[in-house]
Amino acid sequence: LIITIMDKIPPAIPNLEIKYTKLFINNEFVDSKDGSTFPTENPATGKEICRVSEAKAADIDAAVAAARKAFQPGSPWRKTEPKQRGILLNKLADLMQRDLHYLASLESLDAGKLYSSCYALEIQACIDVIRYFAGWADKDHGSTLPMDDGFFAYTRHEPVGVCGGIIPWNFPLTMFSWKLAPCIAMGNVLVMKPAELTPLTALYLGSLIKEAGFPPGVVNVVPGYGKTAGSALSRHMDVDKIAFTGSALVGRQIQKDSAETNLKRVTLELGGKSPNIVFADANLDYAVEMAHIAVFSNSGQICCAGTRTYVQEDIYDTFVKKSVERAKKGNIGSPSSLTTEYGPQISKLQKDKILKYLEGGVKEGCKIECGGVQVEGNNGHYIQPTVITGLTDEMTVTKEEIFGPVQQIYKFKDVSEVLKKANNTRYGLAAAVFTNDLNKAMTISNGVEAGTVWVNCYYKMGPTLPFGGYKESGFGRELGQYALHEYTEVKTVAMKINAPGL
Ligand code: NAD
Repeated sequence: LIITIMDKIPPAIPNLEIKYTKLFINNEFVDSKDGSTFPTENPATGKEICRVSEAKAADIDAAVAAARKAFQPGSPWRKTEPKQRGILLNKLADLMQRDLHYLASLESLDAGKLYSSCYALEIQACIDVIRYFAGWADKDHGSTLPMDDGFFAYTRHEPVGVCGGIIPWNFPLTMFSWKLAPCIAMGNVLVMKPAELTPLTALYLGSLIKEAGFPPGVVNVVPGYGKTAGSALSRHMDVDKIAFTGSALVGRQIQKDSAETNLKRVTLELGGKSPNIVFADANLDYAVEMAHIAVFSNSGQICCAGTRTYVQEDIYDTFVKKSVERAKKGNIGSPSSLTTEYGPQISKLQKDKILKYLEGGVKEGCKIECGGVQVEGNNGHYIQPTVITGLTDEMTVTKEEIFGPVQQIYKFKDVSEVLKKANNTRYGLAAAVFTNDLNKAMTISNGVEAGTVWVNCYYKMGPTLPFGGYKESGFGRELGQYALHEYTEVKTVAMKINAPGL
């Protein structure tokens, strides 16, 4: 199947022309107010791609004002029929499909992500998400309620208002789509702050939003740094909601910002340390491959990566041996090449952070089975795929998110022991179990504290499946019908009816 897909992918566009580098406010590309710019680099080479206008507090004010104006009662957007909102979203999806080749090449260049994956999977999935929520635009509604005699009551689902999106660098277009689609379908307006490391596809999406025909101010894109642009948005008195994806540390700050300002609604999609549990009765080779994919996809930079691989003792030694062989086999290289399996980390900072975690892990007593070092002779931010063993529950590498290509393999005896270990974490984003025993599959999937559980698969996601965290992985759900609630207020109307004689 993979070979068939690969055959159909055109090569990434070389020497890509960067078309949009300014802030997108009120359907126009504008310089930042003080003229500031910042560089964005290619993680595969460490070289600057271009400079991008940098939003600061004054620019965030301008974007929020444009959004607020677009949301005023009687504005073109407020008068846009729900059905028409769906048509506009579908038009945007059509334009993304038209420009798939360009978008995939740009996402790969700016984020160091595999071009093949962007082209064949990720951007297609963004388009699917936008189309799914386009369908909801005229189907989500309130209900009539049982009430005392002489009264009539009903609910209305109304948009929350001006929504701010703050997103990370690991899935720039995916995160934008997950927030934009339900937000717009439900009639809100959006100010999106992409990650400072990956602003380019978000700005390009701005041009498509304008081309699709959205009224000015409905969607605004303001790249900038977290402490300036991000903070100005999350502390803004005229923003009604923040949808955040990123680290737990910044998630807490966003929550605090809300509490200290206008109690804006907050949804948080944070990190994870997801357990992937492999029982001895599972199909071994399949489980090894899935566990590998669960960790190493996107260079290990996935919030729901299966970073804690728990393997039952009977098959532990063989599993480790096969996992090491697998990790040594893959092709490390340029993310734009169709044959590359492992691309770079997003930045030198992230690369150094991962190497530091490994150094600390070794000091605490864990064993590096393979990898554990950067790829030499290359200016990109590459790390060798790494497998580590000899881990305990107390080690820092067990507790904290490494966010890199590091598979941690643990040994367990039985269901109750592994369930306890799996839940021994502050996080609760995802979990997986590989077994052919229905009872084990059910016991784990019911008992594990995580927002998503995969049984005999990993990363199976789709527009209809809600995604979000338990515990310190955050709250709120993206995707699926549940996402609509995060972008609507429920208004109750109770009415006295004067019906004499009845
Ligand atoms: P980060 O938290 O540093 O940054 C995320 C975003 O927040 C960026 O746009 C950044 O500019 C902004 N930001 C930073 N400081 C801010 C502040 N004080 N106020 C407002 N905004 C601020 O995270 P990252 O390094 O970009 O991404 C990696 C993290 O994101 C990992 O922990 C990963 O698990 C998590 N993540 C979670 C999910 C999920 O769906 N749960 C998805 C992807 C990534």
